[in-house]
Amino acid sequence: MDIDKHWRWPWVTKIRRGFQYGGIKYGHGEISYSGPDHFIRDFYVHSFSHVDSPLHYLSNTKSIDEVPIETFFGDCAVLDVSYKKDKEPINANDLEENGANVKENDIVLVKSLWDEKYSYKTSEYWLNAPYLTFDACYWLVKRNVKAVALDFPFIGNERHSIILREGVGLIEYLCNVGCLTQNRVKLFAVPLKIIGATGSPCRAFAIEEVQ
Ligand SMILES: [Zn+2]
Repeated sequence: MDIDKHWRWPWVTKIRRGFQYGGIKYGHGEISYSGPDHFIRDFYVHSFSHVDSPLHYLSNTKSIDEVPIETFFGDCAVLDVSYKKDKEPINANDLEENGANVKENDIVLVKSLWDEKYSYKTSEYWLNAPYLTFDACYWLVKRNVKAVALDFPFIGNERHSIILREGVGLIEYLCNVGCLTQNRVKLFAVPLKIIGATGSPCRAFAIEEVQ
């Protein structure tokens, strides 16, 4: 998702820019305000495409800087549930039927292609989306996968907790998954090392081998 104004996160409005931010008097006496155009935009780390650390829902657990970076890149099984319609559950049976390609220690990308149906800028994207059932969340963690990636909204304390308390990474609000043609790819969705943060924005991309 583009990090830009969005009705779901109304505080993402202003951009501050200019030379007054970050001025510093260096050891050689020069004060530098000139040159770079600093750019500051306020947004919450769980808006737009991002990853979660367990600390987002579970106290006394790891913040995003403490989660091993390899959780968020590597072999990825693309599990296709794009036949799901508005407000339909995605349950463990759906994952079982379509998840023969899932291996231990994979990232599993549950592909709904929801952003092809509704733009993430619309309320329908958020309110009409299919959703993972609790048993689907348990199915994922029982496969001993290292992370779960989703291209549709993932809402709810219990759903997040089922995944995060098992130490499984969570990659949310991905877009453009429809450009993938293979059911196994390499996915990269690495967080920024923000000390103490409960998540981080990520720039996600995949590499696939095309036969
Ligand atoms: Zn999040």
